[in-house]
Amino acid sequence: MRRLTREEKFMRAAIKVAQRGLREGEVPIGAVVVYGEKVISRGYNRRAKLQLASAHAEMMAIDKACKKFGSWRLPEGCELYVTLEPCPMCMGASLNARVDKLYFGAYEQKGRSLTAELADANLLNHKTEVVGGVLQEECAALLSGFFIAMRQKQKAEKERAKAEAEAANPPMENLEEKES
Ligand SMILES: [Zn+2]
Repeated sequence: MRRLTREEKFMRAAIKVAQRGLREGEVPIGAVVVYGEKVISRGYNRRAKLQLASAHAEMMAIDKACKKFGSWRLPEGCELYVTLEPCPMCMGASLNARVDKLYFGAYEQKGRSLTAELADANLLNHKTEVVGGVLQEECAALLSGFFIAMRQKQKAEKERAKAEAEAANPPMENLEEKES
């Protein structure tokens, strides 16, 4: 196997955190903040568990990094790695925390993320460089695997509910006494 680049190595760390979310039944999205060539904080999507709209992987990782540095402004050179293209909230948080560089894995489908627009808007007088598609296939496979399994589970549950309903209320024709 070929050696991983440094970007891929850190994306692997984000994937690992996403898998923790997967085990907890969350949509598997993971993020890490890197500073001085070290992972200094991790976060994964916990929206279902916490029932918070803001419980995205990036927000978790950025908040933890800010707490670590005791500052909402992260030091120069902080990088964020996330397995899925960030939503506008998380892109906004990255700009607010002054993340210098953001790497993401899978692309959000249908261009719904506004990542490039927000990165180039010079909001807050800060520019976050964005690089997409790091370990793209691995990151996308993690998500599609989750959604396929979820749909299968939903289908199985639907069929079970239907079978139970039929057992409780057999169709009329079966109840009718047949003339012999
Ligand atoms: Zn987000």
